[in-house]
Amino acid sequence: MLAVRYYGIRDIRIERLPRPVCGPKEVLVKVAYAGICGSDLHIYRKGMFVSSIPETMGHEFSGIVEDVGPGVTGFEPGDHVVGDPRVACGSCPWCRQGKENICPQLSFIGEICPGCFAGYLVLNEDRLLNLPPGLELDRAALIEPLAVALHAAARAGLSSRDTLGIIGAGPVGLLTLLVARPLVEQILVVDRAPARLDMARRLGADRVARELPDVPEQVDAVIEAVGVDATLQGALKLLKPGGRLVLAGLYEESVLVNPNAILEKELKIYGINAYERLDLERAAQAIASGQVDVTPLISRVLPLESAAEAFEILTSQAPDVVKILLSPAGS
Ligand SMILES: [Zn+2]
Ligand SMILES: [Zn+2]
Repeated sequence: MLAVRYYGIRDIRIERLPRPVCGPKEVLVKVAYAGICGSDLHIYRKGMFVSSIPETMGHEFSGIVEDVGPGVTGFEPGDHVVGDPRVACGSCPWCRQGKENICPQLSFIGEICPGCFAGYLVLNEDRLLNLPPGLELDRAALIEPLAVALHAAARAGLSSRDTLGIIGAGPVGLLTLLVARPLVEQILVVDRAPARLDMARRLGADRVARELPDVPEQVDAVIEAVGVDATLQGALKLLKPGGRLVLAGLYEESVLVNPNAILEKELKIYGINAYERLDLERAAQAIASGQVDVTPLISRVLPLESAAEAFEILTSQAPDVVKILLSPAGS
């Protein structure tokens, strides 16, 4: 099978590897679609997260069960599935409460073990979810990033009279817009790229802006989905007194914040890390039922062999591209 392997910063290679085989409790999945995530770009640009080199990248995927190992009870060949790509210790107090996303040892497939940018991958059966009937495999590949958006929106504690600011109209920002749209009164989306703001408008934003408005105290909650100094400072300014800030964008660099901006307005700040299992299940239901239509966010589907091109498109901030899916069909 073909696999996209990370060798170092801006160095990914397509290689032919033996197809993995499943051991006890494991499932072999033929990958149908695999999404490139912001965290894959952090790996590509900065070498973050990856613990061994080379490694097969990727953690967002849908696929079809090809084979099951001894003792597998929940899956059989032909089942359509998506992955829960989190790798946690399973024994710390947080894992035992179902909050594997804040396990101190949390990692992901594609970082600590082989990921899904490949023809096939093997996972323990507890890392897979069966798809609701009728849900197409391409839309299903967005279940994982939608779970992040559901988790972020839940943390923001949104209510119907709220105004919400979303900073960053990338996949997480736009998916959060889709999730939050029915929950709040007004949504402002801020992004530098006009093409992404057009998309935000089409998906239901009431107001869009290329710059963070210099008028302080406008919104009840902000979801910050970029992760740089200017967007954090802007978020603190944008919030009303007593407002809630959810940090959903990963920072590549440290930032300098004046804490008075937080204490004077008694702001509440929440970090979110990935999602809980329930968020994945809710995301699958939300897409399958049509409650959330992720189709406009799938900008391109490229063959696995074009992974390097896809990474270059995404790191060059191509403004009209939101999510690229890699398809290993035939690889
Ligand atoms: Zn992801
Ligand atoms: Zn743990």
